[in-house]
Amino acid sequence: MNTPLADTFGRVHDNLRISVTDRCNIRCFYCMPEEGVKFMRREEILSFEEIERFARIAAGLGVTKLRLTGGEPLLRKDLPILIRKLSAIPGIQDLALTTNGVLLGSQAQALFDAGLRRLNVHLDTLDRERFKHITRRDDLGLVLEGLETARRVGFESIKINAVAVKNLVEPDLVPMARFGREFGHEIRFIEFMPLDAQGLWDRTKVLLADQMIEILSREIAPLIEIPDRDPRAPATDYRFADGIGEIGFIASVSRPFCLNCNRLRLTSDGHLRYCLFAIDETDIKILLRNGAPDDAIASAIRGNVREKWLGHEINSSRFVPPPRPMYAIGG
Ligand code: SAM
Ligand code: SF4
Repeated sequence: MNTPLADTFGRVHDNLRISVTDRCNIRCFYCMPEEGVKFMRREEILSFEEIERFARIAAGLGVTKLRLTGGEPLLRKDLPILIRKLSAIPGIQDLALTTNGVLLGSQAQALFDAGLRRLNVHLDTLDRERFKHITRRDDLGLVLEGLETARRVGFESIKINAVAVKNLVEPDLVPMARFGREFGHEIRFIEFMPLDAQGLWDRTKVLLADQMIEILSREIAPLIEIPDRDPRAPATDYRFADGIGEIGFIASVSRPFCLNCNRLRLTSDGHLRYCLFAIDETDIKILLRNGAPDDAIASAIRGNVREKWLGHEINSSRFVPPPRPMYAIGG
């Protein structure tokens, strides 16, 4: 029996996010530059077989939850094949996907048929012009269609991720929350983090969870925190006092949740990261491609987890942004 995948602070890691590509079909300004993005070469990206093998070894070390992400994961050809492979791994209890939703209309049924039941769809605004401004693409209609198809197909959970950028998304908060209440989606507002490719982030551009709670409570109905639903989940969940709908806040900047972190990340080019903001990575691809046995890969995973720091230092002057932007890490 393996010992749990614990770091030196006693945090047990059972949650793995797997990026399947660094490519994207839109260009959110807080993640990617508008032009000139240098993507990884095809042969640098892990194959489905390599991802499956890694996930199987991680499951043997106690990982039970997987999330596929990117870049935009729906750009990866034949993704349902990977979903079937990962769902069949003994010990994996939960598999979810984060997507920008642009290709969801054409893929939702195939993803569901492959066994996927949980989706997070990224959508910041319901206004076409504002969507264009944020993503530099005119695809709001496709995302809304994708969401509608996903609801029809019957996913158990469809949450919406919205990035909270100050002096920008304030007009979107109430419409987004009302949209979530109408269609039964939990909207999760994620404080803007210093992970953008152009170095645009600074603290004054972060719309803080408390400010959003104040606006939504005033404009819709008081928000009441739902205590301790899952202390290791990054979002703090609230319900509206009138009983209609829930909202989550991922307050990485104003209320860092590192002390409860149980997450690891595998980049699409096969590097393991113990934190979104990690500087150092463990090259797993080299092991996978050079015939390393499972034990050696398991030791590399344990080694990476042992290196994990107590937490990111966004709020300190010592903070150094990670060498990769969000789309190349996997959010
Ligand atoms: N393309 C997919 C999508 O947009 O959902 C998956 C990858 S994306 C990197 C994952 C999530 O990261 C997005 O849902 C978005 O909300 C979040 N994100 C991207 N850049 C961010 C930033 N600078 N700060 C906070 N969240 C960010
Ligand atoms: Fe693409 Fe997602 Fe980054 Fe937006 S946040 S540019 S959709 S990878």
